[in-house]
Amino acid sequence: MEPGYIALYHSGELERRAQALEARECRVNRLQNETGYCHSGRLPIVSTVCAHHGEEPAISGTRGSGTVFLGNCNMRCVYCQNYQISQNWEKQKSNEMDCHALAERMLYLQDELGCHNINFVSPSHCVPQLLRAVVEAVPLGLRVPLVYNSSGYDSTASLKELDGVISIYLPDLRYASDRWAKKFSHAPDYVARARQAIREMYRQVGDLMVDESGVAQKGLIVRHLILPNGLAGSEESLTWLVRELSPTVTVSVMSQYMPVHRAPRIPLLARKITVAEHETVLRLLTDLEIENGWVQELGAAEEYLPDFEREGHPFSTANSGDNILHKVKD
Ligand code: SF4
Repeated sequence: MEPGYIALYHSGELERRAQALEARECRVNRLQNETGYCHSGRLPIVSTVCAHHGEEPAISGTRGSGTVFLGNCNMRCVYCQNYQISQNWEKQKSNEMDCHALAERMLYLQDELGCHNINFVSPSHCVPQLLRAVVEAVPLGLRVPLVYNSSGYDSTASLKELDGVISIYLPDLRYASDRWAKKFSHAPDYVARARQAIREMYRQVGDLMVDESGVAQKGLIVRHLILPNGLAGSEESLTWLVRELSPTVTVSVMSQYMPVHRAPRIPLLARKITVAEHETVLRLLTDLEIENGWVQELGAAEEYLPDFEREGHPFSTANSGDNILHKVKD
């Protein structure tokens, strides 16, 4: 299946969309390199580019997902496991890269590492720059599907410009309470915004479609990170997904929560999740008859903790997600 961005490039539509996004105003003029809440200017900030083998099996496949970790973020999660690159904007300034260089990195992931896809991690604050990089990458030979791997705190208007460009959406559905979203992620309107964004993503790509090897070609996978003390609102969020979005939605339940960054000093967030909390969510999956997706084993937390200051690869093991991610229903 040829990704839609190739036809959009040849019709001129991809260029039109890139220009439309570049002309759109956020509260500062980023084309003049002013920066706002996300501390990002005219150029994308690319912290790390690597083949990632620990994503969901349909994303990592056998050759890895071509992951592009963008620096900075539009949220401020106190427990962010990527805090070294998401919350350290002064240092991230040195990782600015022009869009053509980013396009070349994408080709490196596709051609030299053989990755199944290009996986933009934390892309929400740099959609115009990413679209421009895709415009640059198509004539260089880019042909693998694009994955949009976000917190779910996305602008629906920006997502509409990605219709037909992104093949696989991989958003989080992090909270069911704006109170906790505001307190722990500085995202006071998270619930409505993320649900609206996920609806738009699903409208564009629908249910997950995989090839004969089980590798994703198109569709939506919603991640849900279990937080301690019920802070993620798992019951409410999973119920919303199956009742309001679709009973066939693909869900990835993540159990890897670790109290890092500021979380060790916050009593409600200062521990990993318990066996009982994990089992409660497993029961919910059964009760809600969710059949599509994966669940992380408990105890997987350390396996998934990246270190962006390590030489080479941010993940210590090149483990396959198969080891610790189980299908919701076999
Ligand atoms: S949305 Fe993700 S990357 Fe951004 S601060 Fe929260 S956990 Fe970190």
